[in-house]
Amino acid sequence: MQQIAEAAAKSHDSERKLKIGLEVHGYINVENKAKLFCNCEIDAGAQPNTTICPVCTGQPGSKPMLPNSEAIDKIIAIAAMLDCRINGRLVFQRKHYDWPDMPTGYQRTMSGSYAVPVGQEGNFLGVGIEEVHLEEDPARWDPETGQVDYNRSGYPLVEIVTKPDLKTAEEARVWLRKLTTTLSYIKAINQDLGIKADVNVSVAPAFDRVEIKNVNSFRSIVRAIEYEAARQQMEVREGREVARETRAWKDTDGMSVFMRQKETSVDYLFIPDPDLPAVKVTASEVRKAAEKLPEKPAAKVERYVKNWKIDHVDAEVLSSEILLAELFEKAAAAVNPILAAKWLRRELLRVLNYSKKGLEEVNVDEMHIIQLLKLVEGRKVTDETARSILEKLAEKPFDVEEYVKKNNLFAVGETDVLEKYCGEAIIENPAAVADYKSGKEKALNFMVGAVMQKSKGKATPQRVAEILKRMIK
Ligand SMILES: [Zn+2]
Repeated sequence: MQQIAEAAAKSHDSERKLKIGLEVHGYINVENKAKLFCNCEIDAGAQPNTTICPVCTGQPGSKPMLPNSEAIDKIIAIAAMLDCRINGRLVFQRKHYDWPDMPTGYQRTMSGSYAVPVGQEGNFLGVGIEEVHLEEDPARWDPETGQVDYNRSGYPLVEIVTKPDLKTAEEARVWLRKLTTTLSYIKAINQDLGIKADVNVSVAPAFDRVEIKNVNSFRSIVRAIEYEAARQQMEVREGREVARETRAWKDTDGMSVFMRQKETSVDYLFIPDPDLPAVKVTASEVRKAAEKLPEKPAAKVERYVKNWKIDHVDAEVLSSEILLAELFEKAAAAVNPILAAKWLRRELLRVLNYSKKGLEEVNVDEMHIIQLLKLVEGRKVTDETARSILEKLAEKPFDVEEYVKKNNLFAVGETDVLEKYCGEAIIENPAAVADYKSGKEKALNFMVGAVMQKSKGKATPQRVAEILKRMIK
C-alpha cells in the first residue's frame, strides 16, 4: 500500500490516461425547511430523534405525504441549470435493501434500473451529465453504538451523475468547484450539510470501471482519484487485469479498499412506489423554470473579461458568488468597471474575510458602495480613507457622502495646500533633504510621511512625492 501511495504522489496527471466520472450527492436547499415526504423540520443542529414523525421513521401504516413541491421545483431548476432534458413524468421507485438506517426496508428514489430521472443528457462546462435525480436520505446509523438518528431520514437529496469525461484529478476538483458555485446561484444545495461523491476511475487500455464509494470532501475526491489511478496503473504494469469492482474510500488511511464485485452488485428489487402518484412536469413548467434561471458564472466571467476588460482571475472571484456578482455589475454600471472590480474583489473581500462574514451576512448596500467608489474615482477621498469607510460600511450602512463631509475627510488635492505642507516639511527636516539630495532615495519616504501627517492622512502619497521631488531640486 505504501508503494501505491508513493506512486500516487510521484505520478503526474499528464502522464496518465484516465477516465473519471462523478456521482455528486447534495442536500437540496428548501426554504420551507420540510423533509421530502413529511413536514418534519430540516435542522442539522437538532438533538437526535427530535425532528421525526411516523412517516420518516417508517411506522407501520404511515403513508408519505405528497413530495415537498419546493424540492421538486429545485431539482427541476438544477437539471435545467445543467442543460438537461427534463422528463415529463417522474415516478418514485422503492429501492429495497435491508439496513438499520432504512426503517421501511426501501428508499424512495427516482434512480434505479427502471427509473426515469428528472434530467438527462445534460452538459456542464464540457462534461456530460448522464442524469440528475431526486431521492430521500436514509437515517444516520452508528455501527459502533448501534444507535439510529432519524432526524436526517427523509431529507431531499439530489444526485448528479456525470459521464466519464474528466481526465485528471485536478480537472475534477476545478469542475466540482464550478458546479457548486453555479448551483449556489439558485441556492440549490445546502452546502452546510456537505457534499459527497462516489468516484468512478478507469485507466487505459481497458478502461474497466472501478467505483469508489463515500468520498466526503473535495480534497478527498482528489486523493481518491490519485490513489486509485496509481493502484490501477500498477496492476496494468504488472500484467494483471483491473477488476471491475466497487471499493470504499478510507479517508484516514488515504486508500481505497475492496467492497464488492460489480457482478454481484446488490439487486434492489425496484418497484414503483404505490403510495406516491407520478409527478407531472409540463413543457410550459420546464420553459418557465428555464426562464427563471440566472446567467451562469462561466457566462459572467466571459462577459466581464470581454466587455469590461476585467482580469480573468478577478472575474472568476467576482462571479464566485451571485451576491458579489450582482453588486459588481451595479457598481460597474456606475463607475469605471476596472476600479469597481479592484475595490470589490480586493478591498471588500479583505474586509469580509477579516470579519469572517459572508456578503449575505453584512448589510452592505449597493447605493453606499457606489457612493464610495464615485468618491474614489473622482479622487475626492484617498484610498486609505476609502478603505476605512468600507470597513465601517460592513458594520452598518450610512450615507457615505454625508459622513465624509461631516468628518472633513475629503482628500487634500489642491496643489497650493500641498505645496505649503511640502515647503514646511522641507524647512523642518534639513537632514532628510540633504540625504535625499546626496542620493538616498529613502529619505524621500520620510519627507512624504511628514507631509501626510500635516494633511492628516488626506493627501495621496504619490502626489506628495511628486511635489516634494519638484521642490527639492
Ligand atoms: Zn417526519
